[in-house]
Amino acid sequence: MKLHTFKIGGVHPEDNKLSSDVVAVEAALPKVAVFPLSQHIGAPAKPVVGKGDKVKVGTMIAEASGFVSAPIFSSVSGTVAKIDTVIDATGYQKPAIFINVEGDEWEDRIDRSETLETLANHPELTPEEIVARVKDAGVTGMGGAGFPTFIKLTPPPTAKAECVIINGVECEPYITADYRLMMEHPDEILVGLDLLMKAVRVEKGFIGIEENKPEAIRLLTEKTAHDPRVEVVPLKQKYPQGGEKQLVDAVMNRQVPAPPAIPVSVGAVVQNVGTAYAVYQAVMKRKPLFERYTTVTGKRLDHPANFIVRMGTPFGQLIEACGGLPDCDNKVLAGGPMMGKAVLNLDVPVCKGTNSVTVLSGADAHRQSAQPCIRCGKCVEACPMGLEPYLLATLSSLKDYDRLEKEEVTSCISCGSCQFTCPSHRPILDNILQGKGAVMGIIKARNAAKQTK
Ligand code: SF4
Ligand code: SF4
Repeated sequence: MKLHTFKIGGVHPEDNKLSSDVVAVEAALPKVAVFPLSQHIGAPAKPVVGKGDKVKVGTMIAEASGFVSAPIFSSVSGTVAKIDTVIDATGYQKPAIFINVEGDEWEDRIDRSETLETLANHPELTPEEIVARVKDAGVTGMGGAGFPTFIKLTPPPTAKAECVIINGVECEPYITADYRLMMEHPDEILVGLDLLMKAVRVEKGFIGIEENKPEAIRLLTEKTAHDPRVEVVPLKQKYPQGGEKQLVDAVMNRQVPAPPAIPVSVGAVVQNVGTAYAVYQAVMKRKPLFERYTTVTGKRLDHPANFIVRMGTPFGQLIEACGGLPDCDNKVLAGGPMMGKAVLNLDVPVCKGTNSVTVLSGADAHRQSAQPCIRCGKCVEACPMGLEPYLLATLSSLKDYDRLEKEEVTSCISCGSCQFTCPSHRPILDNILQGKGAVMGIIKARNAAKQTK
């Protein structure tokens, strides 16, 4: 089996896929479901319900409030209790809709049957209709970034899509949600790919999967054997293989230039496997995005597992379903250990981008004290974006934002490979993120000023 990979940098953290063989089960409904209005990149959604309103599963509770935005749908039936704030996975208080759960009544328009619908049965689905249904269903990137999917399906006039790449890499240690989805719903994912290809008018689709998931490679290769348009691309296990730019490099042997260039600038529309599944459900089943596959994992958990979770379910409830928090110091992450964020409490709700709840013991999460940089260059060698992380970290500490911008800090994909590899345990990524945030703010203000001139 020929394995493909990206050319620059990368690291090899232990993969710790503890829950690979655990079939996903439906998580219990929460008593109260909480829906932050900001679950995507762009403007927060605007509530269209108020206290006392009755909702069903699939009722729109907040509408998109700008071009880059997405509506939010209730994952439960019940009564709106309040619109208040909640601390979400970012650690900030965010406006949110709280719904007291009563029963499990679904909107009639949602097709709950298991029947597989294909494009061959639905000639009425034009590219425009597919994009409209994806937009109306609130589908956003399920790999974590949370970019509204319909925007990726309408590339700018300066770019021409040549292929769709389905990202089944799941290179973050511990997480197995995408793997389970590929094993349990391969046919729906393939129809999702078909819909995405039709939406962007291309005749070529790739599915990139890392070598540590041989069963998924085998299954999807078998299922696509009859379709010359689709190719499963086995990938070498190397982090961050699932980064969009790294995946485009591995699959197409093309490099995406620095921002503002995006994958479609070199012809690729990249979508996560979870997004392909959500597209299938939105277009073929009229099911908006209100539940997802989420892994709940950790070496000290009694039963690491994969769940189909209604959004708004608190992390604590899922951890309880896996045997509860281990009896030691713990750090709970939204996401995996490389890119996840520690949560402040267990009331944080599952949102569209929650691919994993990872419980690390205090010992595993412990950071060694930072020592002086020994100029070994390992962080440079590890960086998949060809940056100089030690330099970016230093410039961030010095608040030298002009130089940071020139050194292309905005190309940093926050993968953490530099910090992972540093023998001096320097908090490289923490520093870079502060500097990157400041530079992005400066660029945004500059662009806004240009537009008002
Ligand atoms: S976090 Fe940024 S600087 Fe560090 S290795 Fe990843 S892309 Fe490079
Ligand atoms: S890996 Fe750490 S010690 Fe080595 S050059 Fe980078 S920051 Fe310095």
